[in-house]
Amino acid sequence: MEVSEKAPAKINLTLDALHKREDGYHELEMIMTTIDLSDRIELADIYGDDIVLENSSGLIPQDERNLAYRAADLLRQRMGITRGVKITIHKRIPVAAGLAGGSSDAAATLRGLNRLWQLGLSLEELAEMGAEIGSDVPFCVWSGTALAKGRGEILTPVAPPPPCWVVLAKPRHGVSTAEVFQALRVDQIDRRPNTEAMIRALEQGDYRGICRHLGNVLEEVTMQMYPEVRRLKEKMQQFGADGVLMSGSGPTVFGLVDRESRARRIVNGLRGFCRQVYAVRMLGSNQPLLLDKTRT
Ligand code: ATP
Repeated sequence: MEVSEKAPAKINLTLDALHKREDGYHELEMIMTTIDLSDRIELADIYGDDIVLENSSGLIPQDERNLAYRAADLLRQRMGITRGVKITIHKRIPVAAGLAGGSSDAAATLRGLNRLWQLGLSLEELAEMGAEIGSDVPFCVWSGTALAKGRGEILTPVAPPPPCWVVLAKPRHGVSTAEVFQALRVDQIDRRPNTEAMIRALEQGDYRGICRHLGNVLEEVTMQMYPEVRRLKEKMQQFGADGVLMSGSGPTVFGLVDRESRARRIVNGLRGFCRQVYAVRMLGSNQPLLLDKTRT
């Protein structure tokens, strides 16, 4: 039997770091939402008890360091399963980009194996397991739009953004999330997002309010390290996006646009400055993405 599962990317509409915790992590408060740019994960029964990994990208680890592999391994251990599985990752989400590609692959692997192995686990249970793999994995298990606290694993659903377009521009280099957080000085942050105001704008379907309240305290840190991120943000603003922000720890910069034709124009304008540019739909709705194909 074989199952196929979508693994969509996320963007941060807000990201605030409140303080550094005893355990070394930052206490975060952020609003994340799902966009229509996805990897696809195929999971197939195989003979033997190996976890075999195949992927279409030369940029991600091909062994037990891959987050999808770790998800399968963890689920097997927890559920006492000895079956093998072949995991094929069709990669479309840029790697080390601030779009949670690896976390989403892990989350999709948990959801898919829950079906393939008929484990009957709830999304809560899968999300709890996912937190052991990475802070963004629980959000990716649920997908949709949520306020995330703690390391990012404590989730409260919030209203999804209204339909709109997201233009993404990914600079050539990747960024290490750990490095960006290490460089962050929480006592020196001078502009923080207004998380409450963003939640209100989402509840009211206030697209302009959402664009106005975009904010990420990591943006300045990453821009100091990689000036290209600042340049891309400025270009995206010049080309007319309604609101522009860096996602997660970066370096991807996204712009919100209300109409497809405008999004396409911005993409064309950006192509001269950046090779990886996309225009995708905002998904955002709190529907778990369980509607994929199962083949027997
Ligand atoms: P986040 O926004 O959650 O910080 P990201 O989008 O910045 O994540 P990823 O694309 O998830 O970054 O990659 C981060 C690191 O994880 C990379 O260095 C990559 O080698 C590793 N990695 C492990 N498994 C995967 C995977 N399945 N897909 C992408 N990267 C993976």
